[in-house]
Amino acid sequence: MTRADVAVVGSGPNGLAAAVTMARAGLTVRVHEQAAAFGGGLRGEALFDSRVWHDVCAAVHPMAASSAFFREFDLAARGVRLLQPPVAYGHPLEGRPAALAHRDLDATAAGLGRDGRRWRRLMAPLVRHSSGVADFLLSGQRSLPRDLAVPPLLAPRMLSHLLRANGLRTEEARALLTGVAAHAVGRLPSVPSGAIALLLGQLAHASGWPLPEGGSVRIAEALVADLRAHGGSVHTGQRVTDLAELDAQVVLLDTTPRGLLALAGHRLPPRHRRALARFRYGPGAAKADFLVDGPIPWADPDVGRAGTVHLGGTRAETLAAERAAARGEPTDEPFVLLVDPAVTDPGRAVGGRRPVWAYAHVPNGDARDPVPLVTRRIERYAPGFADTVVAARGVSAAAYESYNPNYPGGDIGAGAITLAQSVFRPTPTWNPYRTPLPGVYLCSASTPPGPSVHGMCGYFAARVALRREFGITTAPPLGPKGGVTPTETSGRTP
Ligand SMILES: Cc1cc2nc3c(=O)[nH]c(=O)nc-3n(C[C@H](O)[C@H](O)[C@H](O)COP(=O)(O)OP(=O)(O)OC[C@H]3O[C@@H](n4cnc5c(N)ncnc54)[C@H](O)[C@@H]3O)c2cc1C
Repeated sequence: MTRADVAVVGSGPNGLAAAVTMARAGLTVRVHEQAAAFGGGLRGEALFDSRVWHDVCAAVHPMAASSAFFREFDLAARGVRLLQPPVAYGHPLEGRPAALAHRDLDATAAGLGRDGRRWRRLMAPLVRHSSGVADFLLSGQRSLPRDLAVPPLLAPRMLSHLLRANGLRTEEARALLTGVAAHAVGRLPSVPSGAIALLLGQLAHASGWPLPEGGSVRIAEALVADLRAHGGSVHTGQRVTDLAELDAQVVLLDTTPRGLLALAGHRLPPRHRRALARFRYGPGAAKADFLVDGPIPWADPDVGRAGTVHLGGTRAETLAAERAAARGEPTDEPFVLLVDPAVTDPGRAVGGRRPVWAYAHVPNGDARDPVPLVTRRIERYAPGFADTVVAARGVSAAAYESYNPNYPGGDIGAGAITLAQSVFRPTPTWNPYRTPLPGVYLCSASTPPGPSVHGMCGYFAARVALRREFGITTAPPLGPKGGVTPTETSGRTP
Protein backbone atom coordinates (compact mmCIF):
# COMPACT_ATOMS: atom_id res chain seq x y z
CA MET A 1 0.00 0.00 0.00
CA THR A 2 1.27 3.47 -0.79
CA ARG A 3 1.62 6.06 1.95
CA ALA A 4 -1.65 7.95 2.53
CA ASP A 5 -1.86 11.63 3.34
CA VAL A 6 -4.26 10.85 6.17
CA ALA A 7 -5.11 7.78 8.26
CA VAL A 8 -8.24 7.83 10.39
CA VAL A 9 -8.56 5.28 13.18
CA GLY A 10 -12.25 4.51 13.75
CA SER A 11 -15.24 4.91 11.46
CA GLY A 12 -17.82 6.40 13.80
CA PRO A 13 -19.67 9.52 12.63
CA ASN A 14 -16.76 11.69 13.79
CA GLY A 15 -14.10 9.54 12.13
CA LEU A 16 -16.09 9.57 8.90
CA ALA A 17 -16.82 13.32 9.11
CA ALA A 18 -13.09 13.92 9.52
CA ALA A 19 -12.29 11.56 6.65
CA VAL A 20 -14.82 13.19 4.31
CA THR A 21 -13.52 16.67 5.15
CA MET A 22 -9.90 15.67 4.49
CA ALA A 23 -10.78 13.84 1.27
CA ARG A 24 -12.84 16.81 0.09
CA ALA A 25 -9.68 18.90 0.49
CA GLY A 26 -7.98 16.68 -2.10
CA LEU A 27 -6.01 14.42 0.27
CA THR A 28 -5.74 10.63 0.14
CA VAL A 29 -7.56 9.20 3.16
CA ARG A 30 -7.58 5.70 4.61
CA VAL A 31 -9.98 4.75 7.45
CA HIS A 32 -9.14 1.78 9.71
CA GLU A 33 -12.00 0.23 11.66
CA GLN A 34 -11.66 -2.60 14.16
CA ALA A 35 -15.23 -3.83 13.75
CA ALA A 36 -16.42 -5.95 10.85
CA ALA A 37 -18.65 -3.10 9.68
CA PHE A 38 -18.11 0.66 9.47
CA GLY A 39 -20.21 3.25 11.27
CA GLY A 40 -19.30 3.04 14.99
CA GLY A 41 -22.38 4.29 16.83
CA LEU A 42 -24.34 4.20 13.56
CA ARG A 43 -24.05 0.44 13.14
CA GLY A 44 -27.01 -1.91 13.07
CA GLU A 45 -27.73 -5.59 12.70
CA ALA A 46 -30.55 -7.98 11.87
CA LEU A 47 -30.23 -9.50 15.33
CA PHE A 48 -32.99 -12.12 15.37
CA ASP A 49 -34.83 -12.15 12.04
CA SER A 50 -32.96 -11.44 8.82
CA ARG A 51 -35.77 -9.08 7.72
CA VAL A 52 -35.84 -6.90 10.84
CA TRP A 53 -33.07 -4.35 11.32
CA HIS A 54 -31.99 -3.18 14.79
CA ASP A 55 -29.98 -0.03 15.47
CA VAL A 56 -27.39 -1.33 17.87
CA CYS A 57 -26.37 2.13 19.14
CA ALA A 58 -27.83 5.46 17.94
CA ALA A 59 -31.38 5.48 16.60
CA VAL A 60 -32.76 9.04 16.70
CA HIS A 61 -31.05 11.98 15.05
CA PRO A 62 -31.94 15.50 16.18
CA MET A 63 -28.25 16.43 15.94
CA ALA A 64 -27.70 14.99 12.46
CA ALA A 65 -30.77 16.97 11.38
CA SER A 66 -29.34 20.22 12.70
CA SER A 67 -25.54 20.26 12.97
CA ALA A 68 -23.54 22.55 10.70
CA PHE A 69 -21.61 19.58 9.29
CA PHE A 70 -24.70 17.62 8.30
CA ARG A 71 -26.60 20.70 7.09
CA GLU A 72 -23.74 21.27 4.66
CA PHE A 73 -23.31 17.57 3.81
CA ASP A 74 -27.06 17.42 3.10
CA LEU A 75 -28.22 13.89 3.91
CA ALA A 76 -31.57 14.39 2.14
CA ALA A 77 -29.89 15.23 -1.17
CA ARG A 78 -27.97 11.96 -0.86
CA GLY A 79 -31.14 9.93 -0.52
CA VAL A 80 -31.15 9.57 3.28
CA ARG A 81 -34.74 10.33 4.26
CA LEU A 82 -34.99 11.67 7.79
CA LEU A 83 -38.49 10.65 8.82
CA GLN A 84 -40.34 12.64 11.46
CA PRO A 85 -42.41 10.74 14.04
CA PRO A 86 -46.00 11.83 14.69
CA VAL A 87 -44.86 13.02 18.16
CA ALA A 88 -41.18 13.88 18.75
CA TYR A 89 -40.95 12.37 22.23
CA GLY A 90 -43.27 11.21 24.96
CA HIS A 91 -43.08 10.67 28.69
CA PRO A 92 -45.66 8.29 30.19
CA LEU A 93 -46.72 8.87 33.78
CA GLU A 94 -48.64 6.53 36.07
CA GLY A 95 -52.28 7.33 36.65
CA ARG A 96 -52.34 10.40 34.41
CA PRO A 97 -52.02 11.19 30.70
CA ALA A 98 -48.55 11.08 29.20
CA ALA A 99 -46.70 14.31 28.48
CA LEU A 100 -46.03 14.73 24.77
CA ALA A 101 -43.68 16.98 22.79
CA HIS A 102 -45.11 17.52 19.33
CA ARG A 103 -43.12 19.03 16.52
CA ASP A 104 -45.70 21.77 16.68
CA LEU A 105 -44.98 24.01 19.65
CA ASP A 106 -48.61 25.17 19.94
CA ALA A 107 -49.88 21.59 20.04
CA THR A 108 -47.33 20.81 22.77
CA ALA A 109 -48.33 23.85 24.79
CA ALA A 110 -52.01 22.96 24.39
CA GLY A 111 -51.33 19.53 25.90
CA LEU A 112 -49.46 20.89 28.91
CA GLY A 113 -52.40 22.65 30.55
CA ARG A 114 -51.41 25.50 32.82
CA ASP A 115 -47.73 25.00 31.96
CA GLY A 116 -48.47 25.45 28.25
CA ARG A 117 -47.69 29.15 28.33
CA ARG A 118 -44.48 28.58 30.27
CA TRP A 119 -43.33 25.87 27.85
CA ARG A 120 -43.99 28.20 24.93
CA ARG A 121 -42.14 31.07 26.63
CA LEU A 122 -39.20 28.75 27.30
CA MET A 123 -38.95 27.26 23.82
CA ALA A 124 -40.35 29.77 21.30
CA PRO A 125 -37.38 32.21 21.27
CA LEU A 126 -34.96 29.28 21.01
CA VAL A 127 -36.97 27.76 18.17
CA ARG A 128 -36.81 31.09 16.32
CA HIS A 129 -33.00 30.91 16.59
CA SER A 130 -32.85 27.14 16.24
CA SER A 131 -29.79 26.77 14.01
CA GLY A 132 -27.97 29.52 15.94
CA VAL A 133 -28.58 27.58 19.18
CA ALA A 134 -27.39 24.34 17.54
CA ASP A 135 -24.27 26.02 16.13
CA PHE A 136 -23.42 27.59 19.48
CA LEU A 137 -23.87 24.44 21.57
CA LEU A 138 -22.31 22.21 18.92
CA SER A 139 -19.32 24.49 18.41
CA GLY A 140 -15.72 23.89 19.37
CA GLN A 141 -16.58 26.26 22.27
CA ARG A 142 -13.61 28.46 21.44
CA SER A 143 -15.21 31.06 19.18
CA LEU A 144 -17.87 33.78 19.24
CA PRO A 145 -21.36 32.59 18.35
CA ARG A 146 -22.54 33.27 14.81
CA ASP A 147 -25.94 34.32 16.16
CA LEU A 148 -25.25 36.84 18.92
CA ALA A 149 -28.83 36.63 20.14
CA VAL A 150 -28.22 33.08 21.39
CA PRO A 151 -26.13 33.55 24.59
CA PRO A 152 -28.58 36.06 26.12
CA LEU A 153 -31.40 33.64 25.35
CA LEU A 154 -29.61 30.65 26.81
CA ALA A 155 -28.02 32.16 29.94
CA PRO A 156 -31.19 32.92 31.97
CA ARG A 157 -32.83 29.69 30.84
CA MET A 158 -29.81 27.67 31.95
CA LEU A 159 -29.82 29.37 35.34
CA SER A 160 -33.51 28.82 35.75
CA HIS A 161 -33.06 25.19 34.68
CA LEU A 162 -30.56 24.69 37.48
CA LEU A 163 -32.47 26.52 40.16
CA ARG A 164 -36.17 25.98 39.46
CA ALA A 165 -36.82 23.54 36.61
CA ASN A 166 -37.43 26.51 34.31
CA GLY A 167 -40.42 27.54 36.42
CA LEU A 168 -42.52 24.60 35.24
CA ARG A 169 -45.11 23.58 37.82
CA THR A 170 -47.11 20.64 36.53
CA GLU A 171 -45.77 17.12 36.95
CA GLU A 172 -46.26 16.52 33.22
CA ALA A 173 -44.16 19.45 31.98
CA ARG A 174 -41.48 18.98 34.64
CA ALA A 175 -41.14 15.30 33.78
CA LEU A 176 -41.12 16.08 30.05
CA LEU A 177 -38.18 18.48 30.33
CA THR A 178 -36.29 16.34 32.84
CA GLY A 179 -36.49 13.39 30.45
CA VAL A 180 -34.70 15.46 27.81
CA ALA A 181 -32.09 16.67 30.32
CA ALA A 182 -31.39 13.03 31.19
CA HIS A 183 -29.83 12.57 27.73
CA ALA A 184 -26.74 14.07 29.40
CA VAL A 185 -26.38 10.76 31.33
CA GLY A 186 -25.18 11.98 34.71
CA ARG A 187 -26.10 13.84 37.83
CA LEU A 188 -29.14 16.11 37.34
CA PRO A 189 -29.69 19.02 37.22
CA SER A 190 -26.40 20.36 35.97
CA VAL A 191 -25.15 23.03 33.58
CA PRO A 192 -24.44 20.55 30.75
CA SER A 193 -27.77 18.76 31.23
CA GLY A 194 -29.49 22.14 31.07
CA ALA A 195 -27.74 22.93 27.81
CA ILE A 196 -28.77 19.55 26.42
CA ALA A 197 -32.37 20.00 27.57
CA LEU A 198 -32.59 23.38 25.86
CA LEU A 199 -30.83 22.23 22.69
CA LEU A 200 -32.79 19.00 22.23
CA GLY A 201 -35.96 20.56 23.62
CA GLN A 202 -36.04 23.33 21.02
CA LEU A 203 -34.92 21.02 18.19
CA ALA A 204 -38.03 18.88 18.79
CA HIS A 205 -40.09 21.91 17.70
CA ALA A 206 -37.75 22.91 14.86
CA SER A 207 -35.83 20.39 12.71
CA GLY A 208 -37.32 17.55 14.80
CA TRP A 209 -36.10 14.28 16.26
CA PRO A 210 -36.09 12.20 13.08
CA LEU A 211 -35.11 8.62 12.30
CA PRO A 212 -33.35 7.78 9.04
CA GLU A 213 -35.52 5.54 6.88
CA GLY A 214 -34.08 2.02 7.13
CA GLY A 215 -31.90 2.75 10.19
CA SER A 216 -28.96 4.84 11.36
CA VAL A 217 -26.57 2.91 9.15
CA ARG A 218 -27.91 4.93 6.20
CA ILE A 219 -26.05 7.96 7.57
CA ALA A 220 -22.78 6.00 7.72
CA GLU A 221 -23.36 4.66 4.21
CA ALA A 222 -23.83 8.19 2.84
CA LEU A 223 -20.59 9.33 4.49
CA VAL A 224 -18.64 6.34 3.20
CA ALA A 225 -20.07 6.77 -0.32
CA ASP A 226 -18.87 10.37 -0.35
CA LEU A 227 -15.47 9.40 1.01
CA ARG A 228 -15.04 6.75 -1.70
CA ALA A 229 -16.22 9.15 -4.39
CA HIS A 230 -13.34 11.39 -3.31
CA GLY A 231 -10.72 8.67 -3.45
CA GLY A 232 -10.81 7.55 0.20
CA SER A 233 -11.08 3.99 1.46
CA VAL A 234 -12.41 2.20 4.55
CA HIS A 235 -10.74 -0.94 5.90
CA THR A 236 -12.89 -2.88 8.35
CA GLY A 237 -11.72 -5.65 10.68
CA GLN A 238 -8.46 -3.75 11.28
CA ARG A 239 -7.82 -2.96 14.91
CA VAL A 240 -4.95 -0.53 15.16
CA THR A 241 -2.85 -1.34 18.23
CA ASP A 242 0.07 1.03 17.70
CA LEU A 243 0.42 4.25 15.74
CA ALA A 244 3.53 2.74 14.14
CA GLU A 245 1.22 0.46 12.11
CA LEU A 246 -0.07 3.45 10.15
CA ASP A 247 1.70 4.70 7.06
CA ALA A 248 0.36 8.24 6.74
CA GLN A 249 1.52 11.82 7.11
CA VAL A 250 -1.31 12.73 9.47
CA VAL A 251 -3.38 10.58 11.83
CA LEU A 252 -6.85 11.37 13.17
CA LEU A 253 -8.01 9.22 16.07
CA ASP A 254 -11.71 8.56 16.54
CA THR A 255 -10.85 7.12 19.96
CA THR A 256 -11.13 8.08 23.61
CA PRO A 257 -8.09 9.37 25.54
CA ARG A 258 -7.78 5.80 26.77
CA GLY A 259 -7.53 4.74 23.13
CA LEU A 260 -4.83 7.34 22.50
CA LEU A 261 -2.91 6.07 25.54
CA ALA A 262 -3.13 2.49 24.25
CA LEU A 263 -1.94 3.48 20.77
CA ALA A 264 0.82 5.88 21.69
CA GLY A 265 1.08 6.25 25.46
CA HIS A 266 4.78 5.45 25.55
CA ARG A 267 5.46 8.28 23.07
CA LEU A 268 3.51 10.95 24.98
CA PRO A 269 5.17 13.32 27.46
CA PRO A 270 4.46 12.01 31.02
CA ARG A 271 2.50 15.16 31.89
CA HIS A 272 0.12 14.67 29.00
CA ARG A 273 -0.18 10.98 29.79
CA ARG A 274 -1.23 11.87 33.32
CA ALA A 275 -3.71 14.46 32.05
CA LEU A 276 -5.31 11.88 29.72
CA ALA A 277 -5.44 9.32 32.53
CA ARG A 278 -7.36 11.86 34.64
CA PHE A 279 -10.13 12.10 32.02
CA ARG A 280 -13.29 10.81 33.69
CA TYR A 281 -15.80 8.41 32.21
CA GLY A 282 -19.49 8.71 33.02
CA PRO A 283 -22.28 6.31 33.95
CA GLY A 284 -22.96 3.41 31.64
CA ALA A 285 -25.67 2.48 29.20
CA ALA A 286 -27.04 -1.04 29.13
CA LYS A 287 -28.74 -1.88 25.87
CA ALA A 288 -31.78 -4.11 25.39
CA ASP A 289 -32.98 -4.97 21.89
CA PHE A 290 -36.28 -6.75 21.44
CA LEU A 291 -38.06 -8.40 18.55
CA VAL A 292 -41.79 -8.06 19.23
CA ASP A 293 -44.88 -9.24 17.40
CA GLY A 294 -46.99 -6.11 17.72
CA PRO A 295 -47.04 -2.46 18.73
CA ILE A 296 -46.21 -1.75 22.38
CA PRO A 297 -49.45 -1.90 24.43
CA TRP A 298 -49.01 1.48 26.12
CA ALA A 299 -51.52 2.20 28.88
CA ASP A 300 -51.86 5.66 27.32
CA PRO A 301 -52.18 4.95 23.58
CA ASP A 302 -50.82 8.42 22.73
CA VAL A 303 -47.35 7.21 23.77
CA GLY A 304 -47.52 4.90 20.74
CA ARG A 305 -47.25 7.96 18.48
CA ALA A 306 -43.93 9.10 19.97
CA GLY A 307 -40.66 8.54 18.13
CA THR A 308 -38.73 8.44 21.41
CA VAL A 309 -40.13 7.53 24.81
CA HIS A 310 -38.56 8.45 28.15
CA LEU A 311 -39.34 5.99 30.95
CA GLY A 312 -38.31 7.86 34.05
CA GLY A 313 -41.53 8.60 35.89
CA THR A 314 -41.82 11.93 37.65
CA ARG A 315 -39.08 14.55 37.72
CA ALA A 316 -38.15 13.48 41.26
CA GLU A 317 -37.92 9.83 40.21
CA THR A 318 -35.76 10.67 37.18
CA LEU A 319 -33.43 12.83 39.27
CA ALA A 320 -33.09 10.05 41.86
CA ALA A 321 -32.36 7.38 39.23
CA GLU A 322 -29.78 9.52 37.43
CA ARG A 323 -28.04 10.47 40.66
CA ALA A 324 -27.88 6.83 41.74
CA ALA A 325 -26.32 5.79 38.40
CA ALA A 326 -23.82 8.65 38.66
CA ARG A 327 -22.91 7.57 42.23
CA GLY A 328 -22.34 4.03 41.00
CA GLU A 329 -25.39 2.61 42.81
CA PRO A 330 -27.42 0.08 40.83
CA THR A 331 -31.17 0.64 41.03
CA ASP A 332 -34.06 -1.54 39.87
CA GLU A 333 -35.75 1.49 38.36
CA PRO A 334 -33.21 3.14 36.06
CA PHE A 335 -34.03 5.81 33.51
CA VAL A 336 -34.78 4.10 30.19
CA LEU A 337 -34.92 5.52 26.67
CA LEU A 338 -37.06 3.58 24.22
CA VAL A 339 -37.65 3.76 20.48
CA ASP A 340 -40.15 1.72 18.49
CA PRO A 341 -38.72 2.62 15.05
CA ALA A 342 -41.75 1.34 13.13
CA VAL A 343 -43.85 4.14 14.65
CA THR A 344 -41.84 6.55 12.50
CA ASP A 345 -40.69 4.22 9.74
CA PRO A 346 -43.41 1.58 9.10
CA GLY A 347 -41.00 -0.27 6.79
CA ARG A 348 -39.07 -1.39 9.88
CA ALA A 349 -41.95 -3.78 10.78
CA VAL A 350 -41.86 -6.89 8.61
CA GLY A 351 -44.34 -9.77 8.70
CA GLY A 352 -45.92 -8.41 11.88
CA ARG A 353 -42.58 -8.29 13.69
CA ARG A 354 -40.77 -5.12 14.72
CA PRO A 355 -37.64 -4.06 16.58
CA VAL A 356 -37.79 -2.26 19.92
CA TRP A 357 -34.66 -0.33 20.92
CA ALA A 358 -34.04 0.59 24.54
CA TYR A 359 -31.26 1.35 26.94
CA ALA A 360 -31.02 1.99 30.65
CA HIS A 361 -28.72 4.42 32.44
CA VAL A 362 -26.74 2.35 34.95
CA PRO A 363 -23.48 2.69 36.88
CA ASN A 364 -20.30 2.55 34.82
CA GLY A 365 -19.22 -1.06 34.40
CA ASP A 366 -22.54 -2.49 35.67
CA ALA A 367 -22.58 -6.16 34.67
CA ARG A 368 -26.34 -6.79 35.07
CA ASP A 369 -28.28 -8.15 32.11
CA PRO A 370 -30.48 -5.20 31.12
CA VAL A 371 -33.28 -7.28 29.54
CA PRO A 372 -35.25 -8.05 32.75
CA LEU A 373 -34.55 -4.54 34.06
CA VAL A 374 -35.80 -2.79 30.92
CA THR A 375 -38.72 -5.19 30.44
CA ARG A 376 -39.96 -4.40 33.95
CA ARG A 377 -39.65 -0.69 33.27
CA ILE A 378 -41.65 -0.94 30.04
CA GLU A 379 -44.28 -3.19 31.66
CA ARG A 380 -44.96 -0.47 34.20
CA TYR A 381 -46.28 1.82 31.47
CA ALA A 382 -47.28 -0.86 28.95
CA PRO A 383 -48.67 -3.89 30.80
CA GLY A 384 -48.56 -6.93 28.53
CA PHE A 385 -45.37 -5.86 26.70
CA ALA A 386 -43.53 -8.99 27.86
CA ASP A 387 -46.13 -11.15 26.06
CA THR A 388 -45.26 -9.49 22.72
CA VAL A 389 -41.54 -10.27 23.00
CA VAL A 390 -40.38 -12.91 20.52
CA ALA A 391 -36.64 -12.53 21.24
CA ALA A 392 -34.40 -10.22 23.22
CA ARG A 393 -30.72 -9.44 23.60
CA GLY A 394 -29.04 -7.52 26.36
CA VAL A 395 -25.62 -5.90 26.34
CA SER A 396 -24.56 -4.88 29.83
CA ALA A 397 -22.63 -1.66 30.43
CA ALA A 398 -19.60 -3.80 31.29
CA ALA A 399 -19.82 -5.62 27.96
CA TYR A 400 -20.27 -2.54 25.77
CA GLU A 401 -16.57 -1.87 25.59
CA SER A 402 -15.86 -5.12 23.79
CA TYR A 403 -18.36 -4.06 21.14
CA ASN A 404 -16.92 -0.56 20.84
CA PRO A 405 -13.75 0.48 22.71
CA ASN A 406 -15.01 4.08 22.69
CA TYR A 407 -17.60 3.21 25.37
CA PRO A 408 -15.47 2.37 28.47
CA GLY A 409 -17.63 0.70 31.10
CA GLY A 410 -20.61 1.45 28.89
CA ASP A 411 -20.07 5.23 28.86
CA ILE A 412 -21.65 6.01 25.49
CA GLY A 413 -20.62 9.65 25.84
CA ALA A 414 -16.93 8.68 25.48
CA GLY A 415 -16.31 10.72 28.63
CA ALA A 416 -18.43 12.11 31.47
CA ILE A 417 -20.51 15.17 30.59
CA THR A 418 -19.47 17.44 33.44
CA LEU A 419 -19.10 21.20 33.20
CA ALA A 420 -15.30 20.99 33.09
CA GLN A 421 -15.29 18.13 30.63
CA SER A 422 -17.76 19.86 28.32
CA VAL A 423 -15.26 22.62 27.58
CA PHE A 424 -11.94 21.00 28.44
CA ARG A 425 -12.46 17.76 26.63
CA PRO A 426 -10.20 15.75 26.94
CA THR A 427 -7.61 17.99 28.67
CA PRO A 428 -7.52 21.69 29.69
CA THR A 429 -6.10 23.17 26.51
CA TRP A 430 -7.03 25.77 23.93
CA ASN A 431 -6.89 23.30 21.04
CA PRO A 432 -8.52 20.06 22.18
CA TYR A 433 -7.97 18.26 18.87
CA ARG A 434 -4.17 18.47 18.88
CA THR A 435 -2.00 16.00 20.75
CA PRO A 436 1.66 16.55 21.69
CA LEU A 437 2.59 14.08 18.92
CA PRO A 438 3.38 15.71 15.57
CA GLY A 439 0.63 15.07 13.02
CA VAL A 440 -1.64 13.21 15.47
CA TYR A 441 -5.11 14.54 16.30
CA LEU A 442 -8.10 13.37 18.34
CA CYS A 443 -11.43 13.63 16.54
CA SER A 444 -13.88 11.56 18.62
CA ALA A 445 -16.76 12.47 20.92
CA SER A 446 -14.13 12.80 23.66
CA THR A 447 -13.45 16.25 22.16
CA PRO A 448 -15.84 19.23 21.95
CA PRO A 449 -18.71 19.40 21.39
CA GLY A 450 -18.99 15.85 22.78
CA PRO A 451 -21.30 12.91 22.10
CA SER A 452 -24.14 12.40 19.60
CA VAL A 453 -24.24 12.00 15.87
CA HIS A 454 -23.42 15.51 14.64
CA GLY A 455 -19.99 14.99 13.05
CA MET A 456 -18.70 18.24 14.53
CA CYS A 457 -15.77 16.76 16.53
CA GLY A 458 -14.49 15.12 13.35
CA TYR A 459 -15.10 18.21 11.26
CA PHE A 460 -13.30 20.56 13.68
CA ALA A 461 -10.35 18.19 14.12
CA ALA A 462 -10.02 17.87 10.34
CA ARG A 463 -10.11 21.66 9.88
CA VAL A 464 -7.32 22.06 12.45
CA ALA A 465 -5.24 19.33 10.78
CA LEU A 466 -5.82 20.80 7.32
CA ARG A 467 -4.60 24.18 8.46
CA ARG A 468 -1.64 23.05 10.54
CA GLU A 469 -0.36 20.14 8.47
CA PHE A 470 -1.27 21.09 4.91
CA GLY A 471 -1.66 24.88 5.04
CA ILE A 472 -5.27 24.60 3.83
CA THR A 473 -7.25 27.35 5.50
CA THR A 474 -10.36 27.37 3.34
CA ALA A 475 -13.11 24.98 4.38
CA PRO A 476 -13.57 22.35 1.67
CA PRO A 477 -17.05 22.18 0.18
CA LEU A 478 -19.10 19.33 1.68
CA GLY A 479 -22.33 19.49 -0.32
CA PRO A 480 -23.37 16.65 -2.64
CA LYS A 481 -22.51 18.65 -5.75
CA GLY A 482 -19.17 19.58 -4.25
CA GLY A 483 -19.59 23.18 -5.27
CA VAL A 484 -21.10 24.68 -2.16
CA THR A 485 -18.74 26.66 -0.01
CA PRO A 486 -19.49 26.02 3.66
CA THR A 487 -20.78 29.01 5.49
CA GLU A 488 -19.10 30.05 8.68
CA THR A 489 -21.96 28.32 10.48
CA SER A 490 -19.35 25.70 11.16
CA GLY A 491 -17.60 28.14 13.46
CA ARG A 492 -13.95 28.97 13.75
CA THR A 493 -11.66 26.20 14.86
CA PRO A 494 -8.99 26.69 17.51
C1 LIG B 1 -26.83 2.58 22.92
C2 LIG B 1 -26.48 3.91 22.31
C3 LIG B 1 -27.50 4.75 21.92
C4 LIG B 1 -27.21 5.98 21.35
N1 LIG B 1 -28.24 6.75 20.88
C5 LIG B 1 -27.97 7.87 20.20
C6 LIG B 1 -28.99 8.52 19.48
O1 LIG B 1 -30.13 8.04 19.41
N2 LIG B 1 -28.67 9.68 18.82
C7 LIG B 1 -27.40 10.18 18.81
O2 LIG B 1 -27.19 11.24 18.21
N3 LIG B 1 -26.41 9.55 19.46
C8 LIG B 1 -26.65 8.40 20.13
N4 LIG B 1 -25.64 7.70 20.72
C9 LIG B 1 -24.31 8.31 20.80
C10 LIG B 1 -23.57 8.23 19.49
O3 LIG B 1 -23.67 6.95 18.93
C11 LIG B 1 -22.10 8.59 19.72
O4 LIG B 1 -22.01 9.81 20.43
C12 LIG B 1 -21.36 8.74 18.41
O5 LIG B 1 -21.44 7.53 17.68
C13 LIG B 1 -19.92 9.12 18.65
O6 LIG B 1 -19.25 9.12 17.42
P1 LIG B 1 -17.68 8.88 17.33
O7 LIG B 1 -17.35 8.86 15.89
O8 LIG B 1 -16.98 9.83 18.21
O9 LIG B 1 -17.42 7.44 17.98
P2 LIG B 1 -18.05 6.03 17.66
O10 LIG B 1 -19.31 6.15 16.90
O11 LIG B 1 -18.10 5.31 18.95
O12 LIG B 1 -16.99 5.34 16.70
C14 LIG B 1 -15.69 5.02 17.10
C15 LIG B 1 -15.21 3.94 16.16
O13 LIG B 1 -13.80 3.77 16.33
C16 LIG B 1 -13.51 2.39 16.29
N5 LIG B 1 -12.23 2.20 16.98
C17 LIG B 1 -11.90 2.61 18.22
N6 LIG B 1 -10.63 2.27 18.51
C18 LIG B 1 -10.13 1.66 17.39
C19 LIG B 1 -8.87 1.09 17.05
N7 LIG B 1 -7.85 1.08 17.92
N8 LIG B 1 -8.69 0.57 15.82
C20 LIG B 1 -9.71 0.58 14.90
N9 LIG B 1 -10.93 1.09 15.19
C21 LIG B 1 -11.14 1.62 16.41
C22 LIG B 1 -14.70 1.75 17.00
O14 LIG B 1 -14.85 0.40 16.68
C23 LIG B 1 -15.85 2.59 16.45
O15 LIG B 1 -16.37 2.05 15.25
C24 LIG B 1 -25.87 6.42 21.23
C25 LIG B 1 -24.83 5.56 21.60
C26 LIG B 1 -25.13 4.31 22.10
C27 LIG B 1 -24.03 3.36 22.42
